[in-house]
Amino acid sequence: MTNENSTPNRRVAVVGAGITGPLLSLCLARLGFEVDLYEAYLRRAQDVGSFLNLAPNGRAVLERLGLADRILERGTVAHSITFANHKGRQLARNPERTTNIMRGELSAALREAATDGGVKLHTAKRLVTLDKSGEHGWRLGFEDGTRAEADIVLGCDGVNSTTRHLLLPHAPRPTYTQVVGSGGRSETGAAELPVDGRFHMVFGLRGFFGYQVVSPGVVWWFENHQETHERSFAELAETDDAWWLAALARRHRPDPAVVRRILNASTGPVGRWPVHEVPPLDTWHRGSAAVLGDAAHAVAPHLGAGAALGMEDAYELALALHRHPAAPQAFTAFEESRRARVAAMAKQARQTGAVMTPDRWITRVIRDLMLPTAIKHGVRKGTEAYSYRPSPWPVRAD
Ligand SMILES: Cc1cc2nc3c(=O)[nH]c(=O)nc-3n(C[C@H](O)[C@H](O)[C@H](O)COP(=O)(O)OP(=O)(O)OC[C@H]3O[C@@H](n4cnc5c(N)ncnc54)[C@H](O)[C@@H]3O)c2cc1C
Repeated sequence: MTNENSTPNRRVAVVGAGITGPLLSLCLARLGFEVDLYEAYLRRAQDVGSFLNLAPNGRAVLERLGLADRILERGTVAHSITFANHKGRQLARNPERTTNIMRGELSAALREAATDGGVKLHTAKRLVTLDKSGEHGWRLGFEDGTRAEADIVLGCDGVNSTTRHLLLPHAPRPTYTQVVGSGGRSETGAAELPVDGRFHMVFGLRGFFGYQVVSPGVVWWFENHQETHERSFAELAETDDAWWLAALARRHRPDPAVVRRILNASTGPVGRWPVHEVPPLDTWHRGSAAVLGDAAHAVAPHLGAGAALGMEDAYELALALHRHPAAPQAFTAFEESRRARVAAMAKQARQTGAVMTPDRWITRVIRDLMLPTAIKHGVRKGTEAYSYRPSPWPVRAD
């Protein structure tokens, strides 16, 4: 750890050790801040059965910090992403290299890197109150009755952020995207589906399905479909896995047989969750406290971009706090530099969502015609979603 720019009296409390929180904590510790990371859970129920695709912009942050190999060895590289329609016709191939990794594994690896880097991790600490303390500081209260003090508070506590609620009580609430996601792991015969290094996407007629064969006979899959009536995480969890899988198989009856084959071969728990996004907030901070990652700008999942965006945030916010003597200035500079990118990604995610499983056949036909050109064009101009390059690091990053 490099601490030559030690910053005394800047005790930082980071709330939430999902993806953004541990990475932010590590960056700050390397820049000389004293960091306490508070996490509500040891292991989140939401992480069961759920993997995410980490895009090149997320990898770029990890590479800059010298962490890519250590963290991403827990996942599986996809050398390209392929797209097919519900008739099984291959529409396009995006040659970008991405990594599929279980969300819980990614979080655990980042937490380990943070604690190795000097961050103090406190689990089973759910933030419930946040009050001013003295002229600039904060007092945090946790569900177990304990308290802590900090000069700077950074909320990385996800889409339903308590920090956001306490800090910016008038901020709009998260909205339901009318999408329910689920994911799991299946075991097919090793010869049946080859390990081909591809992340396969299928625009089903009534649901979007993605999968990668991660090792001989082992498939990770996810499914997103529209449900207009919102059901909570707890309500979705009430249905049993077998019932859920049978319902998904029925939903995907018109689609390529491989989708049902994978669903029918599911082993282990199936994660499922309602998907929310955070509408644009007027500000992401108040005084010396701020929110970032999903807490500030959760976007619809159709681009598979949220985790990488959170990593970008973590890296750039740490640098802003290093550059600016006062936290509010750092937050203002950070917001100015990030807002346009986040808004562009949110828009792109919504546009992508609109053509995933459209009701009208004509929209499907246009999508199928346009997609190859859109992907080729996007790749040539350096796909916008992946185009972020981390700012230079002021001291040795490792
Ligand atoms: C269906 C779906 C598919 C997705 N697929 C992808 C994908 O393929 N690629 C991608 O990049 N992104 C994807 N995302 C988005 C990605 O999961 C999020 O953007 C990412 O997890 C955000 O990280 P975060 O650390 O900001 O928040 P989170 O990962 O949500 O972490 C928040 C943490 O805060 C903790 N916490 C919450 N409240 C409190 C509290 N009061 N006190 C203390 N701790 C608290 C939580 O337990 C959690 O550990 C997907 C999202 C969904 C819903």
